[in-house]
Amino acid sequence: MSKNPFQTALDTLQMAGEIGKINPDVLKMLSQPKRIFQFSIPMKMDNGELQIFQAFRVHYNDALGQIKDGTRFVPDLDLDTVKALGFWMTIKHAIAGVPAGGGKGGVRVDPGKLSDREYESLVRSFIRKLPMKGAWVDVPGADIGTSGRTQAWMLDEFEEIMGFHSPAAINDKPVEVNGTLGSREATGTGAFFVTMAAVKSYNISPKATVAVQGFGDVGSTITELLYQQGYKIVAVSDIKGGIYSENGLNITKLIEYVKETGYVVDFPGSKSIGNDDLVEIDCEILVPAAVQSVIYEDNADKVKARLIIECANGPVTTEAEKILEKKGVTMIPDVLANSGSAIVCAFERTQGLTDTYWDLETVNKRLNERILKAYQETIKTAGEKDTSLRNAAWINALHKIGKAMKARGWI
Ligand code: NAD
Repeated sequence: MSKNPFQTALDTLQMAGEIGKINPDVLKMLSQPKRIFQFSIPMKMDNGELQIFQAFRVHYNDALGQIKDGTRFVPDLDLDTVKALGFWMTIKHAIAGVPAGGGKGGVRVDPGKLSDREYESLVRSFIRKLPMKGAWVDVPGADIGTSGRTQAWMLDEFEEIMGFHSPAAINDKPVEVNGTLGSREATGTGAFFVTMAAVKSYNISPKATVAVQGFGDVGSTITELLYQQGYKIVAVSDIKGGIYSENGLNITKLIEYVKETGYVVDFPGSKSIGNDDLVEIDCEILVPAAVQSVIYEDNADKVKARLIIECANGPVTTEAEKILEKKGVTMIPDVLANSGSAIVCAFERTQGLTDTYWDLETVNKRLNERILKAYQETIKTAGEKDTSLRNAAWINALHKIGKAMKARGWI
């Protein structure tokens, strides 16, 4: 049975807290969320039946600033998952130097089973019933089951309620309604910047071989950027399976192929492989950008990569991490590697508050500065404490949050 995600987050908190000698009161404060909202949303379905949906929003901690982050619409959403996700966002914002607290929310629903009218109505009801909201309190963004489309509905509903425009109140909006450029690519682009820095730190060849699992927004963005930089992409996969070429895949053509067919499988000139094979493939850089726990106790020893860039959340289990550490594999932790969208969401709110909209070059320049600063701080702490980059990133976050708590007089 997989571990409760909130317990996993608490375990990391305790470990990082011990290694970093963090004030126990900071750990105590961070062991539970500041606020939990749980509410039901009754809705008349198209067939006239009344259905009641369970909704959640957790304000995990707001020592560093207003609550910010995603809204998940999935059929198996539960409170512990929302708490864990809100906690991770609190840590991720602190690592990235984003002046925001962390939260998460969502509705227990399968959006694929809703008509367009039902979907829009549920999204609007979620915002109407959310007890605390707005640019200075809680800024919901997108997550699984939500997208630019739902965020535009949320914004419209919020502005109708308030009676004035407030683009900074909702994140991940389309640019047509005051969203930011670079939003969809932010996580892949941020992970690319971190990879470039890690390659230098760990003396990996700038023409190294790369394997990428997952070819969605994040996976395809980082793959294309690495390819343009001259890296040899030997393997790529998605939910239907993977492809391999010893001489390297032509990613420009692959992107065109995926646009036409929807998947990477059967790409001309490539050999078919499974998703499990991809993790074990002979390459120097491995980029898990699909789902959690793909590197686990049984396959960790077979990983050949020297550097793992965790684009997905939690792709390496705790047991696998110990095995990889012994093998000398460097892991750039998810909380750092995939913080690009958290950073660009903060930029989106800033743009909305100032009514000034940046060009893509400015967004990416500021993303680069912010994520590299976080990377350098992590490397420094890992060296000083002789610990993993994951622990180091958490320790830095706990220090920043702890200082804010102290200044506020909470501890
Ligand atoms: P996406 O839905 O755009 O793409 C997911 C990709 O993974 C698709 O190619 C899909 O086919 C593939 N996939 C799904 N299940 C798979 C499986 N079991 N094995 C192999 N491939 C599989 O999602 P995304 O936005 O690219 O996000 C990818 C990962 O990054 C997720 O774990 C997500 O939680 C994480 N993440 C995303 C963001 C973001 O801003 N998009 C931010 C932080 C973390």
